[in-house]
Amino acid sequence: MSAHSSREARNDGPGLACLDIACRACGVALIPNGREPRREWFMLRPEVWALTGLAPDGGHLCIGCTEVRIGRPLTGSDLTDEQPINSPNPADSPRMAVLKVAAASAPQGDGSFAGR
Ligand SMILES: [Zn+2]
Repeated sequence: MSAHSSREARNDGPGLACLDIACRACGVALIPNGREPRREWFMLRPEVWALTGLAPDGGHLCIGCTEVRIGRPLTGSDLTDEQPINSPNPADSPRMAVLKVAAASAPQGDGSFAGR
């Protein structure tokens, strides 16, 4: 049901300077300018993103559309430890905030994990 061409992704500006990024599936703004905490801007592990069926540079998805595409709810360990994109932000939507908190306590596979 997608009527979109992949042309919209060809914006090579410096990322967040362009704030009209929208979910490719439902069109919701992922970094809205309003005051309501509705931001859903996050980075998935490549293998999780691959499950969405989109190319690595194939656009962006909100949490809901991501979960529909991968067929399960997202968990904290689906997010990379990339900063600051996956750090909690006051503008995050409630479900985004929950996911980022879960990600912060999820074990990361990289060598930077100090263990405890
Ligand atoms: Zn969406």
